Amino acid sequence: TKQTNPNPHRTTSHFRWVHCVRMEPATTTVLSPNTRRRHRKIVVIMGPTGAGKSRLSIDLATRFFKNSEIINSDKMQVYSRLDITTNKITMQEQNGVRHHILGAFDPTQSVVNPHDFRKLASDAISDIISRRGLPLIVGGSNSFIYSLVTKRFDPKSDVFNGPNPDPVSSELRYKCCFIWVDVCLPVLNQYLCKRVDEMLDSGMLEELSEFFSSGEHLTVKRSGLGQAIGVPELEAYFRTGNGTESDAVYSEGVRRIKDNTCQLAKRQVGKILRLKDGGWDLKRIDATEAFMAVLTADSGGGRVAEIWEKQVVETSVKIVKQFLEE
Ligand code: ATP
Repeated sequence: TKQTNPNPHRTTSHFRWVHCVRMEPATTTVLSPNTRRRHRKIVVIMGPTGAGKSRLSIDLATRFFKNSEIINSDKMQVYSRLDITTNKITMQEQNGVRHHILGAFDPTQSVVNPHDFRKLASDAISDIISRRGLPLIVGGSNSFIYSLVTKRFDPKSDVFNGPNPDPVSSELRYKCCFIWVDVCLPVLNQYLCKRVDEMLDSGMLEELSEFFSSGEHLTVKRSGLGQAIGVPELEAYFRTGNGTESDAVYSEGVRRIKDNTCQLAKRQVGKILRLKDGGWDLKRIDATEAFMAVLTADSGGGRVAEIWEKQVVETSVKIVKQFLEE
């Protein structure tokens, strides 16, 4: 799988990276001989947009499970382009951890559907395991995760949508350790609105301006990257240019981006609960307190890092260690 370099010079000012100061663990995990028998074992990090999945995966891969490689399971981040708008992890944030299926597809040529993802990701898993690595699947698109891990996947079946969704299958083709990073929704919503403002300030507006002025929005597949939150919402703004109404059109576009991002998070949690109710053994980790600390004006980055470390990283490490030793 091609490895890409999504906008290496981008600076992100939001929680994920800035407030979490690296803290070295007292000891690096020593794995028992048993742990080496990890045939078809994968770790899946799930959760709504903004919950800190990428941050956690890099914490695990750089400090505790150093043979890890990350497979992206966000359906917008599989495409090259719109790195800021789709909130791709930057090269700097990747911190040397190998990533797969990230920015690997030309959005003017391809639409990657769950069926394609099943094939791509299972190939990447085989490749990682053949090198004695640990695959970490990281991303919020639950339809991708479902297609990948179920034993028999039927592309025509829909277990998430409609008045009568199909039953969830709990017959899986990998041994999976599911970690669900959860943040209580009112707190997450507040954080997501702040994140949208930060993304706009850190280059999302310029990225989209270029996307529209070059006519790229006309060439990307509507059912693929053309759906990324930010594209439909700001289309009217970039179409009307700098007319007298543009301030109002811009504000309305930003309001819709925030609203749609919060809706996305809510739907993603709904899908996760559906999998849990369907018998998937998801280990829920509550990151709410760390997010509350981010939102509290007077909290320093150190306090956020401390809470994140104790409540999210340490708990995840315990869960993954136990899973690998089983
Ligand atoms: P799925 O339901 O297939 O698991 P999902 O969790 O991403 O995927 P959807 O409800 O399909 O949720 O997506 C809702 C909207 O959010 C879509 O328009 C989608 O393109 C957009 N979206 C999802 N992820 C991103 C992202 N990383 N950046 C921008 N927009 C996104």
